[in-house]
Amino acid sequence: MAKAEASVIAAQRACPAGCGHEVELLAELEFGAFDDVPLDRCTRLVACRHCGQTYNDGAFDQAALDTFYRDHGSYAVEMTAGGGMDPWDMDRYELALEVLERHIQSDHPSIIDVGCANGGFISTLTRFGYDRLYGVDLSINRVEYVRHICKLPAALGSADKLPYRDVTPDVLVYSHLIEHLYDPQRALQEAHDRLADDGFVYLEVADASRYGELPVCAFHWLGQSERVTHFDTHHLANLARRSGFTPVETGQLTAPISETIAIPVCYAVLRKAEAEAVQPDVTLGHALRRYVDEQREAIQDRQATIATLAKKGSPVILWGIGHELFCLYDLAGLNRCPLTALVDDSLAKQDRTVNGLPVLGRERLKEATAEDAVVITSASGRPAMERHLNDIGFAGAVVTLG
Ligand SMILES: [Zn+2]
Repeated sequence: MAKAEASVIAAQRACPAGCGHEVELLAELEFGAFDDVPLDRCTRLVACRHCGQTYNDGAFDQAALDTFYRDHGSYAVEMTAGGGMDPWDMDRYELALEVLERHIQSDHPSIIDVGCANGGFISTLTRFGYDRLYGVDLSINRVEYVRHICKLPAALGSADKLPYRDVTPDVLVYSHLIEHLYDPQRALQEAHDRLADDGFVYLEVADASRYGELPVCAFHWLGQSERVTHFDTHHLANLARRSGFTPVETGQLTAPISETIAIPVCYAVLRKAEAEAVQPDVTLGHALRRYVDEQREAIQDRQATIATLAKKGSPVILWGIGHELFCLYDLAGLNRCPLTALVDDSLAKQDRTVNGLPVLGRERLKEATAEDAVVITSASGRPAMERHLNDIGFAGAVVTLG
């Protein structure tokens, strides 16, 4: 009891379901990031003491999240990330469409996809005969892509201020969006104002109650510091109740995001109703604590390998500067190694820095001596990277993190 009381704190950020600031601290985790990313390096994971909603506390705000999406995120920079038209993307969209079709009542519904990325979902809908489709995104790159490549209407806009003022949508889709909003209730308020009275909202997010079931890489779900609220179906329903909606269907899916990886997803279909009180449930906090414990255990071997490197004091070159590295940058102790260079093949990363060290192309590896250690950070790229080091005659130690 005393231990539980000791972890109750006043959060800077209020509970996204609108309860207030009294929270239980679940974990504090440091992650790496490019220096230009305007988000906290420390993720303070908390659970609302009133409703059990889990979320990231901190000094960030919606403006920081918007800047991240507009200018820095892989969503803005790398056109391959999210909302594309690969075969697995289409399988994922069809899972969502199956849910939508159970609720569409109008013969000719207007559908707005909020956070449409590359327009993959609305492009898929055209194949099923839907033609009143609109995309909204914060990133001008994405909007231009949808307009010119998908040949569909797309407009710049945010979830709390939707464009298309002359459209009364029958369906509003928020797929993998609301967990990235500082105040998701504002988005649902806008949805309430704009949605047709007999229309519905479809919310889909990664299912935080199952983060540990299908791990993409160690600490994947928490290492994305722009993922600021962690939902399960229960808390999606709570958010709806507080915002003047009632959940008419909730469920869990396993959705493919690549040829080999599928992620746990949960969704809710909401219709307009009187606002209701939230229904407390603390089980999600317990699930997230377990997830953090499991991930800590899973990286122990890598921590030991990195600690040995740090102890030897050998200069370390990191190869592969992305999410997998950032998840483990602090937690596995890479920040305590004498880092001398960062290497990545992506031109989009090569003008960026991490703790002041610039990302360089792979030609930097040719300068490496037998004194250096190269830490390969990408599990999927590892075989090709090892071959390249062999080809250029690198004689130092090669350590793989993946
Ligand atoms: Zn709450």
